[in-house]
Amino acid sequence: MIMTSLSRSLRLFTLRQVRRRSPLSPLIPKRFLGIPPQFLLDEYIPRYQLLSSVDAAKKRSLAYAHLQNCNLCPRRCGVNRYEETGVCLIGAETAKVNVIAPHRGEEPCIQGYHGSGSVFFSGCNLRCVFCQNHDIAHQPNGFDLTPEELADWYIKLQQVGNVHNINLVTPEHVVPQVALSILAARDMGLKIPIIYNTSSFDSLESLELMDGLVDIYLPDFKVWKSSTSKRLLKADDYAETAKESIKEMYRQVGDLSFTSDGIAKKGVLLRHLVMPGKEDEGREIMRWLAENVSKDLYVHIMEQYHPDAHVGKKKRTTRNASQEDKAEVRYADINRAVRDEELGSVRDAAVAAGLWRFCEVNEHGGFHL
Ligand code: SF4
Repeated sequence: MIMTSLSRSLRLFTLRQVRRRSPLSPLIPKRFLGIPPQFLLDEYIPRYQLLSSVDAAKKRSLAYAHLQNCNLCPRRCGVNRYEETGVCLIGAETAKVNVIAPHRGEEPCIQGYHGSGSVFFSGCNLRCVFCQNHDIAHQPNGFDLTPEELADWYIKLQQVGNVHNINLVTPEHVVPQVALSILAARDMGLKIPIIYNTSSFDSLESLELMDGLVDIYLPDFKVWKSSTSKRLLKADDYAETAKESIKEMYRQVGDLSFTSDGIAKKGVLLRHLVMPGKEDEGREIMRWLAENVSKDLYVHIMEQYHPDAHVGKKKRTTRNASQEDKAEVRYADINRAVRDEELGSVRDAAVAAGLWRFCEVNEHGGFHL
């Protein structure tokens, strides 16, 4: 759940950590979860820790260069973000952040026992008409933080929150600031994996900048047809961009792998939110993933779609419009929850295509890993 302000989340965060740090707190037992051996890691060192100082310096200068001529996402605005803003409405010196807090709304292997250290960035390079975070995605609501201030927060999340990872939510439009913040945090003692939690509307240039800094990619693959992406995401070329981006993410970090406590440390976790009446697109996405990325890809087929943002709002009409016209709502075709048979058909297509690693409760309790 997203809270409304950074300061409120900081207060809650601090209170919770004081309770958790009591010396009487029981130790959390280690789980042994039957992880297939090829996805089991003995130990894990985050990739940003292994970057040489020369490569780190190259990444810093590349980050500054991108900000001066921003073609970082497929919008390709070409603006100097030190002087003006592009479609995403975010400048160069800072990133706008709405909430920073340990978060327990993620997959079990991501949130673990203590939560995922989530940083919700404000602004977005898509304009999904059903966006469930539209209050921060479609408007720049939040606090401006420099890369160094962001790095300070990562360290607080690690040291006080004891979280399992730093989870950068919707970072596509602030990749240079994020790259600089990870490099600053590494010098300050950050030791936990970095998650890049994205709509997949990324460019290869920005993913190249993140290569070596990110441990887990958490891409959404939203819709398949360009007519759907044009209408619902306000982007013509979404699926083509997502395909290219997801292949590159997989090339960098491979299949999702875990330490023996069931916490994910490295790899790709692919999400697909099944949309009402769009199960044919979900099936195409599953087939493409199995054939072009990996049959061992870890997939979360999500069912929690609900109408939000512009969906279900009254259409604008003239004063003389009929009662029938006045009662019409926008995007009526997706103004409902998803049906079980729609979910089932996407899941069946995934299995038929050869995918087998799903984020769901298994028949013996616990979660599939
Ligand atoms: S990141 Fe922002 S400024 Fe840069 S290309 Fe994308 S929308 Fe435009």
